[in-house]
Amino acid sequence: MENEFTFTCPVCGRPLFMQEGGLGCEKGHRFDRARSGYVNLLLPGDKHAKLPGDNRPMVNARRAFLEKGFYRPMAEELAGEVAAAFAGRKGEVRLLDAGCGEGYYTRLVFDRLAEAGTGCALVGVDISKFAAEKAAKRFQPGEKAVIAAASVFRLPLAEESCDGLMSLFAPFAREEFLRVLKPGGWMWEVIPGARHLWQLKEAVYDRPYPNEVKDYPVEGFGFMGSRPVAGEIALRGEEIAALFQMTPYYYKTSAEGQARAAALEELTTEISFEILSYRKK
Ligand SMILES: [Zn+2]
Repeated sequence: MENEFTFTCPVCGRPLFMQEGGLGCEKGHRFDRARSGYVNLLLPGDKHAKLPGDNRPMVNARRAFLEKGFYRPMAEELAGEVAAAFAGRKGEVRLLDAGCGEGYYTRLVFDRLAEAGTGCALVGVDISKFAAEKAAKRFQPGEKAVIAAASVFRLPLAEESCDGLMSLFAPFAREEFLRVLKPGGWMWEVIPGARHLWQLKEAVYDRPYPNEVKDYPVEGFGFMGSRPVAGEIALRGEEIAALFQMTPYYYKTSAEGQARAAALEELTTEISFEILSYRKK
């Protein structure tokens, strides 16, 4: 764990320092570091924010799906955008993955920045301890990456401490993002396109609806552009179940719909995303 990208104490906001077995602040608040390497900065009040998708089987299913590379083209586009934004930057870029999940995108972006010769100190934050544990295991002790279990709505980071952040399929905490970003700091958001997973929805629902694509403007940010990424993926058996569980539809779907998805042996479906870029004003 590197000290220069210091976490702040979620109780009092003071800087946290390394202590035996964890982190602590000068007021005596202490936080454990798990053996896997992540720091648990959750407070009891954060638990209400826990989403359904955060349990261990869900995290494992998502990890298995992503590791097969189905979303890799989008991840590479995103990493390219991040690397381009910081190309030629002197000194170290401080990047936050807000809602990093099990760290698939976190690791990939970290590697692309390194390949581009950009120094990076990375922080990943996720409300799920299972996800944080998996994400932490993607990094070696000498690497400048730290993972914390914490809420994106109460980031354990100082004001204006980040050069950039990414928010992928995670709760969007606009005010917190504005707080931790430096002026001019970058923000990338990945959202599903209108026809993302259309054929999966057709297989599950009697009347599928396209995804609503959100308005681009975000208060406090300048909109820098949208990059569409679309493709088609062919899935079999457990891959289909894993994908379905990753979607927000899973929890809104009737038992009949879930049974239909579980019965699918093969599925070819469109995927589509938009990578949105912003800069803090
Ligand atoms: Zn404290």
